[in-house]
Amino acid sequence: MKHDSVFDMALEQLETTAKRIKLNPDIHRVLQSCEKELTVACPVVMNDGRIEVFEGYRVQHSSARGPCKGGIRFHESVTVDEMKALAMWMTWKCAVVNIPFGGAKGGVRVDVTKLEKDEIRRLTRRFTVNIMPIIGPRHDIPAPDVNTNAETMGWIMDTVSMYQGATVLDIVTGKSTDLGGSLGRREATGRGVMLSTLELLKRLHIEPENVTAAIQGFGNVGSVGADLLHKEGCRIIAVSDVTGGYYNSNGLPIRHMIEHAKTTKFHTLDGFTAPGVSKISNEELLQLDVDILVPAAMEKQITDKNADKVKAKAVIEGANGPTTPEAGRILHKKGITVVPDILANSGGVVVSYFEWVQSIQSFFWDVEAVNKNLKRVLVKAFADVWDLATREKLTMRDAATQIAVQRVAMAMEERGIFP
Ligand code: GLU
Repeated sequence: MKHDSVFDMALEQLETTAKRIKLNPDIHRVLQSCEKELTVACPVVMNDGRIEVFEGYRVQHSSARGPCKGGIRFHESVTVDEMKALAMWMTWKCAVVNIPFGGAKGGVRVDVTKLEKDEIRRLTRRFTVNIMPIIGPRHDIPAPDVNTNAETMGWIMDTVSMYQGATVLDIVTGKSTDLGGSLGRREATGRGVMLSTLELLKRLHIEPENVTAAIQGFGNVGSVGADLLHKEGCRIIAVSDVTGGYYNSNGLPIRHMIEHAKTTKFHTLDGFTAPGVSKISNEELLQLDVDILVPAAMEKQITDKNADKVKAKAVIEGANGPTTPEAGRILHKKGITVVPDILANSGGVVVSYFEWVQSIQSFFWDVEAVNKNLKRVLVKAFADVWDLATREKLTMRDAATQIAVQRVAMAMEERGIFP
């Protein structure tokens, strides 16, 4: 089956699992739809006085296990179909790491590179007010995603707080630490990518010092993931972002690249040069002969068109949905292990959970406590998935989805269908 729709891709994964575990067809039917889909129009007065209207969405897939949780992205490719898929994946992600949240996702279709900062701020505030009827600390808690960050979360928190007439810390996660954010949250997704990679390497009996890695994407996930893997001894020989790929077979100067990205307008690697570093294309990066490939950019990067050319021993999915189901089957046939997105990039939402707990209690942890608890949760989830995959001869994606769907189904059975 070909997938033009990302949501179809998510539905196929659910169906594969449902068939294998003989999921109650009633539960399956409920899980195939999203609980709520809100589409909003956000008019914004631009700096030149014109009014532009941006379409935005907030989709809640399932609240069976707790309040819905998921990021908000600003990107020109955002559609309701994509939000539905990402919301469903958030449900599985929260379930597989066993935190008490359901899944949601939101976004606005906008090319942020064409907007000034105060236009983005007005857009964020208008979007927040538009989705306010369905978000809330006990209902649905947004967080950063592609092209949004701690500053965006601060604007959302302030907007909601102005309406409430009181500061509402637990309405979003991924806030700055000045505004009740958690230490370690910004790095958490990249840290989770590093931790999942180390867990996999242990089981493959490979020392990190002997590992080469290529990382697609140098945003919050890719850059922190690259930095932390590099600190563990891995040689990062290629990274890429919207400006293309950067390659050095002896290893890239990751810290230097992070510093460079801080100086460019859109925090890209634009104009980065260093001795021994050559430019390659994004496609070439995906096909490098490395041990570890980390797609940490957007959906549908590894497809039936290029999966056959992937030479990595393992793929660690830093992004959501970077591998299509057809590509997943090709990688599996080639003996390439894929650590699926819902496990590999779950570090972000795990620390979001810690942030939510800290915001509710107004009691804040030190970074050691955050990182220690993150490691505890991820190591356990990785072991659960790996053991099931080994025992039942499943891919790690199938095993992770199975654990997640079973947990959500259990919650639904115990709650029953209202009324
Ligand atoms: N956007 C991140 C993700 O896709 C984080 C979500 C959250 O922390 O709620 O997992």
